[in-house]
Amino acid sequence: MSQTHFLGFDIGGTNARSALIELQNGQFKILSSKKTSTRGQQTPKDIASVIASVTAQMLADYKLQSLDGIGIAIAGQIDIDEHTIINAPNLNWHHVNFFDHIKEALSGILPDVDIRIANDLNAIAWGEYHFGAAHSLNSLLAVYVGTGIGAGLIIDGKLMLGADNVSGEIGHCKSVRAQNMMCGCGQVGCVEAYAGGKAIEYRIQHDIQIGATSRQELDMAEDEAPTARCIERAYKTGVPYAVEFWKQTSAAIGELIANAIAILNPQGLLLGGGVLEGCPELLTLVVEHIMEMAPRASVAKLQFIKPTLHDDAGTLGAALLTLKA
Ligand SMILES: [Zn+2]
Repeated sequence: MSQTHFLGFDIGGTNARSALIELQNGQFKILSSKKTSTRGQQTPKDIASVIASVTAQMLADYKLQSLDGIGIAIAGQIDIDEHTIINAPNLNWHHVNFFDHIKEALSGILPDVDIRIANDLNAIAWGEYHFGAAHSLNSLLAVYVGTGIGAGLIIDGKLMLGADNVSGEIGHCKSVRAQNMMCGCGQVGCVEAYAGGKAIEYRIQHDIQIGATSRQELDMAEDEAPTARCIERAYKTGVPYAVEFWKQTSAAIGELIANAIAILNPQGLLLGGGVLEGCPELLTLVVEHIMEMAPRASVAKLQFIKPTLHDDAGTLGAALLTLKA
């Protein structure tokens, strides 16, 4: 029986996750998944050499002569050529031909391997779609609220990339709640600048500074950084500031997703990311807003899907994306 092997990477701000996948008779198997620190080595050349050394190690560990594809997921906008990273704010990369760096780093080991570079949320959505709870659906909208807000969209079993490879940039839809708030994308008024994890931290910090709340009110330890979890915890005990904070934040996220559902009418909706997965009370409020604001006909049969792969979704999705068929 013929076997094929794919390697997937998910490059984050502080580490690179990787997974080796075997495909045999139409069945996928995860042979290995691991995490490598990239702290202090974040230039495109550094990351390319991390990819090359993990690849060499995987080949040796599993006694493989070659790979059928290497997929790399990166948080950022990737050019339609899939070679150039237009903007990856976490890595501080702008207009970098990352493909050439990887090709060069791999030249001594796998000079002819297929390489595909993808947006991380597209890869995550693709991974959840194939390996997770959404595999039986024909369309899926996967929205992630973590540091930022992004989405991956699958329609008729195909990952939608858009004309310029930048579809799913849902966090950069504008909202009146985000008025005057500067977004990492360089524009003003994006939902992400109000309701993304980083923005939530900024808002709490700001409100503490102006006296709208206090560390005591939020029951924060002296050295505790203000995060979404502080609001989640205070919400559970009924602290009015936290109740209002979650009410406004969930409305912003819920409205955004309800609008996307009105346009797309997906069969499944997956809600994930560090903020939503770490804050179940916020998630419940978001779902309530979606059900209230989206057109009735669009949500009547909508299936809510829970993320099941968590940290492995990006690597598995990236590896699968190298399968062109
Ligand atoms: Zn933006």
